[in-house]
Amino acid sequence: MSQPRKVEIRSDGGLSILWDDGHQAAYTPAHLRLACKCALCEDEWSGERRLDASSIASDIRALSVKPVGRYGIQVNWSDGHSTGIYTFDRLRALCECETCLKTARE
Ligand SMILES: [Zn+2]
Ligand SMILES: [Zn+2]
Repeated sequence: MSQPRKVEIRSDGGLSILWDDGHQAAYTPAHLRLACKCALCEDEWSGERRLDASSIASDIRALSVKPVGRYGIQVNWSDGHSTGIYTFDRLRALCECETCLKTARE
C-alpha cells in the first residue's frame, strides 16, 4: 500500500498529497468532503449516503489534517466536521490529478 510522503492543504482548501511512489495527487475540497464515509455521512450497515452534495458549502475547506495510525488521515473541515477517516487506499482512488482524471475518462 502506498504511503503519503507529504500532505499539504492547498490554497483552495483542498489537499495535495505526494505519495511514496512519486504520484502527485490532487483533491478538491468539496469532492473530498463529500467522499467522507463516517457514520454521520454514510450509513454503516446499508452504505446509504446520509450526506447530500447540496448541503456542502461551496466555500468548504480543509483546516487541518492529521495522520491516523499508518493507514489514513483525518481531515478537520471548515463546516466543523472531523469524524471521517480517509484511508490511503481510498485517497488513491479519489485522486483528481490530471493523470487519474484522464484514466477515469478513458
Ligand atoms: Zn463524515
Ligand atoms: Zn492521481
